[in-house]
Amino acid sequence: MTSRFHAASGTSAPDAGAEDLRGRTALVTGGGSGIGKATADALARAGALVHVVDREAGSARAVAAAIGGVAHVVDLADPGAVGTLPAGVDVLVNNAGLQHVAAIEDFPPDRFELMQRVMVTAPFLLMRHCLPHMYAGGWGRIVNVSSMHGLRASAFKSAYVAAKHGLEGLSKVAALEGAPHGVTSNCVNPGYVRTPLVEGQIAGQAAAHGIPPEEVVTGILLDRSAIKRLIEPEEVAAVCRWLCGPHTGYITGVSLPVDGGWGAR
Ligand code: NAD
Repeated sequence: MTSRFHAASGTSAPDAGAEDLRGRTALVTGGGSGIGKATADALARAGALVHVVDREAGSARAVAAAIGGVAHVVDLADPGAVGTLPAGVDVLVNNAGLQHVAAIEDFPPDRFELMQRVMVTAPFLLMRHCLPHMYAGGWGRIVNVSSMHGLRASAFKSAYVAAKHGLEGLSKVAALEGAPHGVTSNCVNPGYVRTPLVEGQIAGQAAAHGIPPEEVVTGILLDRSAIKRLIEPEEVAAVCRWLCGPHTGYITGVSLPVDGGWGAR
């Protein structure tokens, strides 16, 4: 993963047909892996200087080095972490997330609470942190990486479904408050994306059901998708980048499925 663009240089043109984010600064949480890594790369390719935020030091630094960005190693479960991050960003991508699969009666309460902190409270604190700069400049883009589980439920994912539904509400409120200031806020709602988060679920379900991993993908994960393949992280990143471009200023408060037809059923 390399980028030919660096906001600080300001000399290269972005990818042909890309949104031009030269001179803009972006912050991507969970930028060390999966969708966040692909989005950090896509925004850097559009010319933005990208702050890569992740609790995993090695991956945050590797991604930042590859795209000419800046790594920030923080645990977003810690409410004090957000204050250490830059507030002067024009694009905020709330992407960091985690999964835990268990029936409600067996779900560890501390795990439930942790997931709300990382996937709802941290995005709220980051909006609070970054919006004054966006409002001052009269332009901003907030992209919340939600999920089809922000719109639909699945059994055994109580914390995840609750957190993503919470993020959906937060995103809509930010859209209403940001509108007079040129700031949009939207959710992107992927189905199952080929990332370490999903690979963990595939391995877990294969072990739980005693079936091969391929059967978990086709028989369980993609059961509701009309397109029978996992989404690639770059496909989600392209939608995130598009929402930060010049043609999407009127799109706000929406939830955009990238779901292979799951929601059409
Ligand atoms: P991933 O596990 O590949 O990446 C998540 C990143 O977030 C990791 O680098 C991890 O270190 C970081 N992170 C987690 N907790 C953190 C914390 N407390 N502080 C800082 N960083 C933290 O996962 P992914 O699949 O790329 O998921 C990214 C987002 O996309 C998540 O919000 C997830 O819910 C959402 N999503 C994923 C899928 C999918 O199928 N993979 C589908 C829909 C939505």
